[in-house]
Amino acid sequence: MELETHNHAETILAGQTIALKIESGAIFCFFGDLGSGKTTLIKGICRGLHVTDWVTSPTFTLINEYQGRLPVFHFDFCRMNSLMDLADLGVEEYFERDGVCLIEWPEIIENLLPKNFIRFSLNMTFQSGYDNFRTITIKRPDF
Ligand code: ADP
Ligand code: MG
Repeated sequence: MELETHNHAETILAGQTIALKIESGAIFCFFGDLGSGKTTLIKGICRGLHVTDWVTSPTFTLINEYQGRLPVFHFDFCRMNSLMDLADLGVEEYFERDGVCLIEWPEIIENLLPKNFIRFSLNMTFQSGYDNFRTITIKRPDF
């Protein structure tokens, strides 16, 4: 499935729509360059899940927890450079918990990802007339 958004607000709205269908146990991985809109889409999803906390990329902690309609675990592995940290975090335990895992820069922990994750690929593609055009491709796992 592919979505197109033309500005920040449309990506938030897309996230809110996606949130309506989320069930406990969902693991969403967000692939895309810096600035492609991963955090923005996650903010929209959190809003749709009725999270009232301030949603921002976890920088020092790597994981933020929010409570909405479901517990939300927001990961950002952007700054992770030591595999030691990973062992300490117990990332895999989060995948077993009730709630939803939203993961930025999942490629950094690729070998730890469960098979059933849903892949979101965000792209900044040039489209004439739109400075802020993004495509968001959503792919279910192909077991
Ligand atoms: P990432 O987490 O992928 O690095 P962010 O969501 O933090 O990206 O940043 C995306 C930036 O691009 C924000 O400043 C946002 O306002 C801007 N932006 C412009 N157009 C869009 C769009 N269509 N979707 C999402 N963000 C957009
Ligand atoms: Mg981000």
